[in-house]
Amino acid sequence: MKPADLLHRIPSVTELLESPRLRSLVDRVSHNVVVAGARSFLDELRDQIRNRTENIQVPSVSEIADLIANRILVGERTALRPVINATGILLHTGLGRACLAEVAVAALTDIARNYASLEMDLASGHRSNRVEAVASLLRQRTGAEASLVVNNNAGATILALAALAAGREVLVSRGQLIEIGGSYRLPDVMAASGAILREVGTTNITHARDYEQAIGDSTALLMRVHASNFRIVGFAETPPIAELVTIAHRHGLLCLDDIGSGALLDFTRFGCSGEPNVRASIEAGADLVLFSGDKLLGGPQCGILVGRQELLDRLARHPLARALRVGKLTLSALAATLRLYHDEAQAVREVPLLQLLAAPVENLKNRAERLAPQIAHESVIENAEPVEDVAYLGGGSIPDQALPTWCIAITPASRNAGKFAKELRLGKPAIIPRIQKDRVLLDLRSVFPHQDIDLVSAIAALANKNPEAPESET
Ligand SMILES: *Cc1c(COP(=O)(O)O)cnc(C)c1O
Repeated sequence: MKPADLLHRIPSVTELLESPRLRSLVDRVSHNVVVAGARSFLDELRDQIRNRTENIQVPSVSEIADLIANRILVGERTALRPVINATGILLHTGLGRACLAEVAVAALTDIARNYASLEMDLASGHRSNRVEAVASLLRQRTGAEASLVVNNNAGATILALAALAAGREVLVSRGQLIEIGGSYRLPDVMAASGAILREVGTTNITHARDYEQAIGDSTALLMRVHASNFRIVGFAETPPIAELVTIAHRHGLLCLDDIGSGALLDFTRFGCSGEPNVRASIEAGADLVLFSGDKLLGGPQCGILVGRQELLDRLARHPLARALRVGKLTLSALAATLRLYHDEAQAVREVPLLQLLAAPVENLKNRAERLAPQIAHESVIENAEPVEDVAYLGGGSIPDQALPTWCIAITPASRNAGKFAKELRLGKPAIIPRIQKDRVLLDLRSVFPHQDIDLVSAIAALANKNPEAPESET
């Protein structure tokens, strides 16, 4: 058939809108969305016919309507959706790190819906600082005089360096020049701030005297960076923060401590050692301590700076402080999370990250033993069995310490682990597993107990559904 004849066979938008499939879709999305979807589909079809290299058939009206509807529904599904984290990595940056405590969610919802006393002191009616909302809580939790909250810890680092060391040298041990997941590399962050990186010591050994010898007229500060996502083991040594503080202060310089994960309580109780503690760093005399809000603290994404009042005042006046500031949602969730730490037992009960960490391995085993037969029962599964394994904190915390865990190891009927993992990711609810050899593992260390039932139902739903197909309209 000639292109002109084919083009003639293409239905009009009006014709398509009368099809049952698109008529029902108009009620669900909107008239404009459906019309725009139909137009762009028909334009593409016309282009294909004009540029055709092989024979093209014009589908029927109802077939075209189906294609358009499917495409619109895929587009309407938000890319950002809740998922079940069955990877066994508790602070998975790709999955949004920490989940918020219920009280934090409630505080955030309340503040989201309403106007808020963000920069107003209600007693006097005068303007106040927006971080007052969390200042006293951070003072109590960390022992520091003052604080500032910005978008994330990378932002906190750039702000601190720009305000305190622009155009001057910052001394960092060679063993601490870290990269954390792609876009965060300390030398690049340093360059962006305008400070000049001066490396001291060697990869594995940096002595106190290495810092001493590097100090010169243009030195602004000494910085310690927690190695976060790696460990140098064996013949390795760097001076503790208290010693850096002594050197810095002896020379009239500042000492800055980027501790990264920001533990507010002692994580050895969960079998994790070696995480720097905010209060300990302040007590050791660090002038400024930087950490993330969504790592071990278990709060919303933010970067928290605590330390001496005079320094934080200087930081707050810097233009970058305005560019990196957080909104009322972050502050309300952070305040509610910090309040839970008044009572450590309450924090462990209510902060989701701490709940996951504190779950006894016996409980995980029992859950795996209960769930495995239910999952094995589904037609898309060849075999599912409980297996003992190890999980990790993630998010740049404690890389060398495995957490005991139990998983459900699944052999899918298709014998294709990658394909089955994809089906789980596109399932309802979405499940993110990990793949080990040719099996798909659901690690219960990072799954909340109330989600167990969803693991089974999402897999059951795969049996009668093509996961690539868009959601049904009803
Ligand atoms: C995680 C981390 C950062 C980056 O923090 P974000 O909140 O992700 O910006 C910086 N420094 C250290 C030591 C870290 O562990």
